[in-house]
Parts: sequence; structure tokens; C-alpha cells
Amino acid sequence: MSDQDFLSILTGSFSTPCGDNPTVAMIEAGYKKAGLNARYINCDVPAENLKDAIKGAVAMGWAGFNCSIPHKVAILEHLDEVAESARIIGAVNCTSIKDGRLTGHNTDGKGFLASLKTVTDPKGKNLLLLGAGGAARAIAVETALAGAKTLTIINRDPKKAETIAKIVNENTDCKATAGKWEGDYTIGNDIDIAINATPIGLGDAEALPPINLDSLRKELIVADVIPNPPKTHLLREADKKGCTTLDGLGMLVNQGQIGVEIWLGKTLDFDVMTKTLKDIFE
Ligand code: NAP
Repeated sequence: MSDQDFLSILTGSFSTPCGDNPTVAMIEAGYKKAGLNARYINCDVPAENLKDAIKGAVAMGWAGFNCSIPHKVAILEHLDEVAESARIIGAVNCTSIKDGRLTGHNTDGKGFLASLKTVTDPKGKNLLLLGAGGAARAIAVETALAGAKTLTIINRDPKKAETIAKIVNENTDCKATAGKWEGDYTIGNDIDIAINATPIGLGDAEALPPINLDSLRKELIVADVIPNPPKTHLLREADKKGCTTLDGLGMLVNQGQIGVEIWLGKTLDFDVMTKTLKDIFE
């Protein structure tokens, strides 16, 4: 056995408060199945320690790390390179370290896109986004770069939807429009894919985004970013109408898988990662 065999490949997550992070179990189960001597470590990194934490990761030879609130924007100034979609989104949640060089990516939208592509190609399609937070912004940019024809973004605070529409219109060929979300929203007949990108439904199987349920046509693809519970009230209603549905669990697993592909060039077992998350969430 060489010295190298004793060294773990180090990856992980920087956030604060870091709390219970199901991604740890999900990725480590994938590492184990792949026979990789790799770890995914959940680190509580306060905002003022981000720079030192990054230096530490580089010094220890980490392959890369995820970061979430409050680091997704602050990390930009510490990077050597930023991938195109992360630059447009203006936030990084996945950083790779190669030969001491740091490259930032955003895997939120990429995870959603990978999930979406299991049922359809967004190219030439009309998308509706409910919500205009960080997840919505990442999904908007990634689906627009993938060739979506139009994006309609609605939000309680229309200014946030307008900001995303502007970013999409300035950086892609997709035509984005923004609107205010008031009352039960009626999904237009021209929409091909409707996406809940709000936290409505997280940890609450009965919560339902305010939409006109009669506007769920069977031709519609309905996606939810909520990973837990995976079968949200919205998706159950969409199932009843015969729509194709996509849950946020798939998005989360894809996001984790894409991060490891960026760091290690290895594709972890999707089913093992999904089962690990389902066991945690049940
Ligand atoms: P965020 O930045 O806080 O944005 C939340 C958005 O939802 C805002 O546009 C907000 O509207 C809207 N919203 C919140 N409560 C609402 C309500 N009751 N009615 C209507 N709109 C409401 O959050 P985020 O980072 O985008 O995350 C959103 C969700 O995505 C979270 O639940 C997160 O767990 C999930 N997510 C999942 C994955 C995955 O891999 N599955 C990845 C990332 C995020 P206002 O602006 O008007 O307040």
C-alpha cells in the first residue's frame, strides 16, 4: 500500500449555521459505492472566516467544496475563475481546486436541468417560474442557456422577478418577462413547463403554492424544487391532472452528482444517493 492509499480525497461544505446536512450522507454513500477513499465534511464557516477556510482547503489539498448561505456571493472575490452560468447568476455554490487554482460553479440550475432532461429538452419551450429567489435565478439562467424560448417569472415582490428577467435577457437568447404574483395564478395555455421555485411545501406535505389548479393541463410538465417531502401537494395535484411531474429530490441528487464530477471527474451512483436521501427524509 502506498502512502497515497492512506490519504483521503477531501471535499465538503462551507456554510453557517451548517446544521444537519443530508448532502453529507448522500455524497459519502456515493463515494463508498464507487470504492473511493473520499470524504465530504460539513464545516461551520462564519462569514469572516471564509477566506481562511478557503486557504485551509487549498493547503490541505481538498478537491473542492460546496458553499451556501452566506458565502454564495462573497466567495466570488476569492476565485481565480468563474464558470459562465455562475458568472451570469452571480452566485457560486460549488468550487473546484486544481493545482491551487479555484474555479467557481453553480450547480443549483445544472441539477435542475439534468433532472428536467430526463423528461424533456427545454430547448424551444415556454417556462413558468414561480418565485424569484436564488433557486429561481439559477434555474432561469441554466434553462435559458439550454435554449428555453421564453421564461415567465412571477413573484410576490415583482422587482426580484424583473431583476432575473433582465439578467436572462441581457445574457441569453431567451425572452424573459416578469410579473407580480397575486392571488391564485392561472398558468397560460402556452406554458410547457411550470416550476415551483419557492420554499412552499418544504417540510409541509399540505402546503400549496397559490395557483389556479384548473390551469394544470395534462400536457404540462410540473416541477418542484422541494426535495422533502419529494411528493409535494403541487405535484400530487399535477399527477391527478395527468401532468408529467418532477420532484426536487432528483434535482438535489443531480446537483450533488454534478459537483463530484467537477471535483473528481467521477460519476457517483444516482440510485444509491437517492435511496440515502429518501431514508433520511422518511
Ligand atoms: P430564497 O432565495 O429565499 O427565495 C424564495 C422565493 O420564494 C422568493 O422569491 C419568495 O418571494 C418566494 N416565496 C417564499 N414564500 C412564498 C410564499 N408563501 N408565497 C409566494 N412566494 C413565496 O430561497 P431559494 O434559495 O430560492 O430556495 C427556494 C427553495 O428551493 C427552498 O425551499 C430550497 O430548499 C429549494 N432548493 C432546492 C434545491 C434542490 O436541489 N432541490 C436547490 C436549491 C434550493 P418574495 O421575494 O416575494 O419573498
